[in-house]
Amino acid sequence: MRTESSLFMQIIQRQRAADILYQDKEVTAFRDIDPQAPVHLLIVPNRLIKTLNDLQPSDTALVGHMVLVATELARQQGMANDGYRLIINCNQHGGQLVPHLHLHLVGGHPLGPMLTHSN
Ligand code: 5GP
Repeated sequence: MRTESSLFMQIIQRQRAADILYQDKEVTAFRDIDPQAPVHLLIVPNRLIKTLNDLQPSDTALVGHMVLVATELARQQGMANDGYRLIINCNQHGGQLVPHLHLHLVGGHPLGPMLTHSN
């Protein structure tokens, strides 16, 4: 992972510019700076959890909340009926660049196959 984990913390704390669409005590959602689809949002826990591997049983409600916030944002963005994709990348093979757990919400047009073969 190349980027500092503090990057998203700076966005959450509004010390770094971002297009924030939703924030509550647990999570913050903002537009990805390099969108891979017409709608590309990131849903991020407000406290630092570096990767999926760092989740604890006590985080179960937080992860459920992240998903429900994503589904509500998908509705708000008009994508619920046509569909969309939620993605969480983990570590190097998963393509995770920012070491602060985040859920990608992507959609707004047909997304094609889930994976492209790289071998
Ligand atoms: P990952 O590859 O870690 O799953 O995804 C990290 C995402 O963070 C990428 O899609 C990237 O475009 C996005 N990103 C990186 N830096 C920034 C930034 O400064 N602001 C915003 N809004 N998104 C960022």
